[in-house]
Amino acid sequence: MGGTGGRDGGAAVRLRPGLRVARRGPCEVQVGVDPRWAVRVRGLSGAQADRLLADGGRSLDGGLPPPVLDRLDQAGLLRGPARRTRRAVPALQPEVVAHGLVRADGDGHAVLHRRAGATVRVEGLDAVGVTVARVLAASGVGRLRVVDESAVRAEDVGAGLADVGTPRAAALTAALARWAPRVRVVGADASDPPDVAVTVARDAVDPAQVLALAAADVPHLPVAVREADALVGPFTGGAVGIGAACLRCLDLHRAAADPAWPAVLAQLVARRRPPVAGPTAVLACVVGGLVAAEVLAHLDGDRPRTVGGQYVVPVPDAVPRLDRWPVHPDCGCTGLG
Ligand SMILES: [Zn+2]
Repeated sequence: MGGTGGRDGGAAVRLRPGLRVARRGPCEVQVGVDPRWAVRVRGLSGAQADRLLADGGRSLDGGLPPPVLDRLDQAGLLRGPARRTRRAVPALQPEVVAHGLVRADGDGHAVLHRRAGATVRVEGLDAVGVTVARVLAASGVGRLRVVDESAVRAEDVGAGLADVGTPRAAALTAALARWAPRVRVVGADASDPPDVAVTVARDAVDPAQVLALAAADVPHLPVAVREADALVGPFTGGAVGIGAACLRCLDLHRAAADPAWPAVLAQLVARRRPPVAGPTAVLACVVGGLVAAEVLAHLDGDRPRTVGGQYVVPVPDAVPRLDRWPVHPDCGCTGLG
C-alpha cells in the first residue's frame, strides 16, 4: 500500500477503514492483522496507545507523535481527508474496505466506480454460471447480460434459481432483482458489446463461439464444466492476453498429443445434451468464484491469472491448479490479439 502522499498539508489523517488495532503491550500496539501491511508501533504512552486503539475514524493528528504518524503513513495505513465524504452503497462496503487496503492508491471507491460502469455477459446458467452472475452483482458490476433459455433443473435451485422448468435466464433475472436490486440486467440481444463475456459450457466451449468473440474484440473467458471437474480459461480477446495462448492454441496442443481430439471436440460441441447431473455444489462455488475473480481483475485494471493459462478445478478437493500454455505456432492468434 502507498502512503497518503505526504502529510505536510497539516490536514487531519485517519487510519484506513477496516484496519484492526490490537494492544501488544503497555506501550505497543499492532495496526493491521494481514501481514502484507500490519505494523508494530512501539514507544507509545498509555494515552497514545489508547488513542490508536480507540480510533474509529477520528483524527489522529495531535494525539500521536510525528514519528508514529510517519511510520503508519509509510506502511500505507493512513488516509487523507479527501476521501472522507465518499460513501459506498452499504452492500458494497466490503469491496471498498478490502480494495482500499489492497490497492496501492488506497482508493476502493475507484474500483467500485469502474465496476459500476461495466457490462458483463454470462452465457450458460448452470450452477456455475449463476454463481458467476451472483458474485459479480454482489461485487458492484453495474450491468449483467444473462443468456440461457434452457429450463431450470432441480439442482439449480440450490444455486439460487426458483421455478423448476422456467427459462434459466428469466429465473436468474428475477433472482438478481432480489439479491442486488441496483444491478441492471440487460437483454441478451443488446447490441452494444459487453466489457467481458463469460461462456459456461458443458464438456467443452465451442471454438467457433470463442472465435466470434475474438473477432468482435470482446474480452472473454471460456469455462467448461466436465464430468467431475471444470476448466477456466484462457482469458483472451480485445487487449487482453495479446501474445498469450488462446483456447484454440490449447486445442492444437491437445490435438498434437491426441490426434483424435478434434473429432471428439466436434462431437462435444455439436450434440449438446442435458447432462445427467450438473456440477457439484462445491465445484459451482469454487469455479463460480474463480471466474468472477478473473472478470473483476480485468475490470479493475489488473491482469487475470488465466491470461495464457487455464485453471483445472477437480472434484473432490476443488483445489485449483493453474496450467500455463504457450502460444501454438499454427494458431495465428497472436496477430489477432
Ligand atoms: Zn491461439
